[in-house]
Amino acid sequence: MADGADLVQSAIIGDLRAAFDASTVLTGADIDARYHTDMAGIPVAPPLAVMRPRSTEEVSKFLKMCHAARVPVTTQGGMTGLVRATMPMPGEIVLSMERMTAIEEVDTGGGVVITQTGVPLQRLQERVAQDGFMFPLDLGARGSCTIGGNISTNAGGNRVIRYGMTRDLVLGLEAVLADGTVLKGVRKYIKNNTGVDLKQLFVGTEGTLGVVTRAALRIFPAPAEQQVALCALPSFDSVRALLALARGRLAGDLTAFEVMWNEYYRLTTTLVQGVAAPLPANHPFYVLLESSGSDAERTRSDVENLLEHALESGIILDATIASSGAAAAAIWTIRDSSVELGRALGPRVGFDISLAIDKMEAFAVEINQRLKKIDQDAYGIVFGHAGDGNLHVIATYSPPLDRTEEVTKLVYGITGEFGGSISAEHGIGILKRPYLKLSRTEEEIETMRTLKRALDPHGILNPGRIFTV
Ligand code: ZN
Repeated sequence: MADGADLVQSAIIGDLRAAFDASTVLTGADIDARYHTDMAGIPVAPPLAVMRPRSTEEVSKFLKMCHAARVPVTTQGGMTGLVRATMPMPGEIVLSMERMTAIEEVDTGGGVVITQTGVPLQRLQERVAQDGFMFPLDLGARGSCTIGGNISTNAGGNRVIRYGMTRDLVLGLEAVLADGTVLKGVRKYIKNNTGVDLKQLFVGTEGTLGVVTRAALRIFPAPAEQQVALCALPSFDSVRALLALARGRLAGDLTAFEVMWNEYYRLTTTLVQGVAAPLPANHPFYVLLESSGSDAERTRSDVENLLEHALESGIILDATIASSGAAAAAIWTIRDSSVELGRALGPRVGFDISLAIDKMEAFAVEINQRLKKIDQDAYGIVFGHAGDGNLHVIATYSPPLDRTEEVTKLVYGITGEFGGSISAEHGIGILKRPYLKLSRTEEEIETMRTLKRALDPHGILNPGRIFTV
């Protein structure tokens, strides 16, 4: 005999089928495994149904029905998240944004693009490039991650040092609340001091407060010239000295400053297929530096002068400046291959944490010392966005035991001791929920709960992600 939950579930499926066309509501065998398979390729419970709306109106109609029936929904973008925020839990319906991919307007005069949020990041980048513009948000998953996912996780990536996080690139949003209410906030201007900035409620809140359907985003004239250099450095003090020097000399042209500890560089250039090593792999630190300017000649000479000065003063030991677009891409590939590197290692746990740059070196040493106490062969591979105070750590250890929890506690414990944040970029989702209190106060978390209860009283939107109500 069917219990109450089963009855509600079969009733909502019937109602959705009646209200939407067949291509919009997928059930049973029509649900592809990709809607419920995580980054590690492990399938989880298939969702009750997969909804594939084409418009904001359809999202609104769908949520209104789920709100009335108290049926939980998880919203999916490109499924490149790392914290299990978009994996369906038993009894949930997947709301896939994959058919909401229209780029509606590229306004070069206003420096704005208006788009539906299911569009992949790279497609948006390429579309505005056709008009000589750039959308500066950029990360390794650019080909599959979506603008909606970028907004809901407040994605950071490689150019935060110059353009800020996704939050800084959003001018206006259209979002649908749990009960189907549509907040029409797609506005094309920066200045708007008219009360609560509602769009910020939906940036970085992992789909728990509403579903973002359209966005007005800032775009910038594409730089005439981009110089990419790879430097080898003797110490972390030199990394800091180079950052200060680059900030001073390149100023607003400095668009990336990525640090890689020796292990990251050495292992990526040896274990990941197709990744070359432009510099020998025996130096303690490497920095990828990118400068983007409007005057090709000046951008080139600024970088050359900077590196010359850094070499002379012993800040860097060696350097190479990419002589072509292909060479620049090859350098970026080293930094962008962290996922591939992870796959080439044994059991591992990935982290993205924030901490003050003056604590980074001691942090990395501490991580490695304490990992060794868990397992002789364990070690941490450290790299990240030094200019933003953001480090990624891949902690790897020897099989056969699963040490995920032990390693996670250890790394977050050290992060807490160093006054850092347990998530710089990836978010909290389900995976990091137990550790949220290491980075946020009880009062802050309680205020988040108050917002959740007010905007989603039946708790249907991504329930249990970030925190439980
Ligand atoms: Zn990152």
